[in-house]
Amino acid sequence: MTESKTDIRLFNLGQLQAQLGKYNWPKFRAKQIYHWLWKKHARSFGEMNNLPKDIIEGLENNFEILPIRVKDEQVSDDGTIKSAFETADKKIVEGVLIPTEKRMTACISSQIGCSLACSFCATGKLKRLRNLTASEIVDQVVEINNQATTNYKKSLTNIVLMGMGEPLLNYSEVMKGIDMITSEDGLGMSPRRITLSTAGISKMIRKMGDDMSRINLALSLHAANDEKRSKIMAINDQNNLDELAEAMIYYYSKTKQMLTFEYIIFRDFNDSLDDARDLARFCKRVPSKVNIIEYNSTDDEQFAKSPEDRVDAFVEFLTKQKIVAKVRRSRGQDIDAACGQLANKNKAELK
Ligand code: SF4
Repeated sequence: MTESKTDIRLFNLGQLQAQLGKYNWPKFRAKQIYHWLWKKHARSFGEMNNLPKDIIEGLENNFEILPIRVKDEQVSDDGTIKSAFETADKKIVEGVLIPTEKRMTACISSQIGCSLACSFCATGKLKRLRNLTASEIVDQVVEINNQATTNYKKSLTNIVLMGMGEPLLNYSEVMKGIDMITSEDGLGMSPRRITLSTAGISKMIRKMGDDMSRINLALSLHAANDEKRSKIMAINDQNNLDELAEAMIYYYSKTKQMLTFEYIIFRDFNDSLDDARDLARFCKRVPSKVNIIEYNSTDDEQFAKSPEDRVDAFVEFLTKQKIVAKVRRSRGQDIDAACGQLANKNKAELK
């Protein structure tokens, strides 16, 4: 009977030293192994060519590395690269590389599927299968960084947790992953370059404040009155706008970090001047800026893209109210780069 092996990347350096201590290997080996795992992103113990053979064998017999791999890759006309990643247990998650002149941004996932079922989101149509581990979160960054350097000769500059899943419902693994992405023992990226986007879990926004988070926080708002927001985001029933505003005021008091509100603008749903007025009122409650995001139409036509003149009038209204608002044009439209769409195509494998 074969004994089950332990995922070696579940351990931080101290825990790994304790684990490896059981085998009486010299202490410095743990550091070397850790370096291979997190700096060089080794996918097998055999690659660790500065370790003696007996240690490699010992590792192979007792531990395993469970990386995600790129299963499918689509390149948009605008250079956006969308990947379907396969986990070791054969589930699909998605990640996107968004190259612009100034930035190389990775959009990564935090869960396989999502339990929140926002009505405009393709991922919301997939049930949540499980949370991603911290190492699977880091792996997406490593793979997308490889795509950036291979295709554009540039490294990643920014990371947004805006792919599949609600990151605040996988808080501990997401934070562990971010520690690894920002740590000098890991990828060494600045936390200021990382944005976590939430559908709005007020309790966890407060927790981020208590934990003195150094990353940026964005709220997927999409409507600034409760009736409308609850229509498209069921989570609003337990976390209404007042509660969210209070949680964000608390978060700001702890971190002094400005919030971002994401607002997908849909035709005849949330693109009127009354909607802009609601949004301006909400924004004034906490130091913030707004990203107005053009809707990327899916096959499932419950929503439509707002016409350009409506979007322009909406933004003009906000600007007159002294709200900082920018329009983000959709990227990767020809390859279904909207949240959840690629994995939806692979959904047979998600079952
Ligand atoms: S928008 Fe985000 S929170 Fe809502 S269903 Fe999609 S992935 Fe989940």
